[in-house]
Amino acid sequence: LPNEFEKARPVMQKIEKAGFEAYFVGGSVRDTILGGKIHDVDIASSAYPQEIKSLFNHTVDTGIEHGTVMVLHNKKGYEITTFRTESGYQDYRRPDKVTFVRSLSEDLKRRDFTINAFAMRENGEVTDLFNGLEDMHNHLIRAVGNPSERFNEDALRMMRAVRFASKLDFDIESNTLEAIHKHSKLLSKIAIERIYTEFVKMMMAKRPKQGLLDMVKTDMYKYIPVFGDHRDDLISISKLNNLKLNSEIEVWSLISFAFQLDSEQIHHLLKKWKASNDVIKQTEMCCAAINHLQKNDLNKWQMYETGIDLLLAANHIASFYGFDVSDEQLINDYDALTIKSKKELAINGGILIKNGICKPGPQLGNILFELEHLVVQGKVDNQTEVLMQEAKKI
Ligand code: ATP
Ligand code: MG
Repeated sequence: LPNEFEKARPVMQKIEKAGFEAYFVGGSVRDTILGGKIHDVDIASSAYPQEIKSLFNHTVDTGIEHGTVMVLHNKKGYEITTFRTESGYQDYRRPDKVTFVRSLSEDLKRRDFTINAFAMRENGEVTDLFNGLEDMHNHLIRAVGNPSERFNEDALRMMRAVRFASKLDFDIESNTLEAIHKHSKLLSKIAIERIYTEFVKMMMAKRPKQGLLDMVKTDMYKYIPVFGDHRDDLISISKLNNLKLNSEIEVWSLISFAFQLDSEQIHHLLKKWKASNDVIKQTEMCCAAINHLQKNDLNKWQMYETGIDLLLAANHIASFYGFDVSDEQLINDYDALTIKSKKELAINGGILIKNGICKPGPQLGNILFELEHLVVQGKVDNQTEVLMQEAKKI
């Protein structure tokens, strides 16, 4: 058993001792069986939230309305969720009602894919009600139960299928794939924030090529903001070699570059996806840098404004198209900049005012901006005296 599971065993044993069942469930069991790294440990139990709370001294109500209580054990938190069924799926979204049940099989039945529906006892014994082990062996993502029904219940599962196919380098089983194709339109009913999370995870996973092709093949792309107009661009991304993305910004920058969007269009795309203002701003900056790399006209000011992290992200995207420079060169060029931020400028508004060079007001900002430009471009030394003289000329 992985270390994370070993550490959780006393918690599980205590629940079992009290006469309830407790299992590791979800992604951590899947990833353990696959022999990969696990991140969050999810535990499911027949005990109701109040019963869990009465068993342990230190608990936090992290999601008590869905049946989740966090138990603190040896400075670690373990989320324990009561077995539940879901009902009242409306508008193809998440259920509005969860019902706690005592039966493990009821809980496993509501899960999305066979490989996500294992349960593992603290002693390592695996429950596999839907032949998930066989699907795992055959590298297949297969819906639990009737795929059409399951996608009608919650259309996000279609995105999740694509995401896990990309993450695990598995294929979507043919009936499941067919059902996705048939119901792809239901994606338009899903809150964009949920699609966003799955899409970015898919793109950052091992095999985004396949994920994108699956989205095209099943028509899912048609029901995702802005993507509908870019079928050929999505296919062209899927043809890039060694595609591996390291951040959300790289994902959006690649999409924006491949769609040939200008700044305004990037803004429009990402607003539709309800991205944060920070993500929008960084994507715009990164894309601008990609365009400069392509034209081979990246200047000092642009490097300064963009910052090294986004420059490296831009260079990484450029590498898929073959117009990147070496990271080393980029880092050297960046390091050679006289200043890296405004704070390093040897002058500020206070100094200009105190020396009677400028009065407070809008002009002050213009002068400082001009000085910042001159210093970054290496036209003037970054020395207070020199900059004061220069300011008088502006
Ligand atoms: P990851 O390693 O990316 O976290 P995960 O399998 O743990 O993958 P989560 O989104 O954390 O994925 O969900 C945990 C588990 O909850 C899943 O393994 C699955 O059993 C179940 N699940 C999550 N979302 C859904 C859904 N929309 N429909 C059905 N079951 C779901
Ligand atoms: Mg998880």
